[in-house]
Amino acid sequence: MEKISPLWKVEDSDSQADTLRSLIDQADATVIGVGAGMPAADGFSYVGPRFEDNFADFIEKYHFYDMLQAFLAKFEDWSEYWAFESRFVLLNGIDQPEGKLYHHFQQFLENNHYEYTILNTNGDNTLEKAHFDKDRVFNYQGQFSRMQCSKFCTPFTYRDDDLIRKMVRDQRNMRVPEDLIPRCPNCGAPLEVNKRTDQGMVEDAEWHREEKNYHDFLDKWNGKKVLNLEIGVGHTTPWIIREPFWKMTKESPDAMYVMVNQKDYLIPDYLDGQKVRLNGDIAQVVGQL
Ligand SMILES: [Zn+2]
Repeated sequence: MEKISPLWKVEDSDSQADTLRSLIDQADATVIGVGAGMPAADGFSYVGPRFEDNFADFIEKYHFYDMLQAFLAKFEDWSEYWAFESRFVLLNGIDQPEGKLYHHFQQFLENNHYEYTILNTNGDNTLEKAHFDKDRVFNYQGQFSRMQCSKFCTPFTYRDDDLIRKMVRDQRNMRVPEDLIPRCPNCGAPLEVNKRTDQGMVEDAEWHREEKNYHDFLDKWNGKKVLNLEIGVGHTTPWIIREPFWKMTKESPDAMYVMVNQKDYLIPDYLDGQKVRLNGDIAQVVGQL
């Protein structure tokens, strides 16, 4: 265990869940960054049977190796795009059941009346299904269940679960009928899944409301004993959760940073005394809180 700021007591325990519980308990408030490792630890894997059983035809044609890679792939045209995406959205954004791990985490935070906010980079419906308070969640990367204009012409997103189901049901040979392809009510361009790419993302009124809530929370607790906790954050978009969490921790001497991840990503030396690494299985570290 590294040397730790005297403000915080770090439990000398064999259980990393005990260590994490104690830190959350000591904190005035906890800022939680949730990455792709969290749903994966809850069984919502983007590789293996969950992917192979639902997309055998697309895997055969494109040799995709995981569902997220496939989700961002270029397809032949909109008909094929929506054949893939409707199945993906139904599986991960609409019909995905409540996860045990998310349920446990939500109960833990709510039953103990902790002050917390969540910055989420997953587009799935895991937080929604586990009844997390919408006012405490900032879905930074959009939502699979919503659609945006592929030309980004207006700051609106749309949800139509019935249409998604119809596209899944009525598709043949990896194509949906042309007349089912959703269109932008404003400019007529095809709609696509609400997500961020190099071209950007439609950030609608709900996105801006969540952003404001998140920043209001940070402002309210700024300078206090804040725990900046990242869970299952990967390496693809460090500027969303990891680097801002490092910066917030560095700029606030009373703050603490915790990385929950089985991969030993680097944590900079300038956080010495303000960092704790918990490299156990997320299903156990979070699941045994
Ligand atoms: Zn449009």
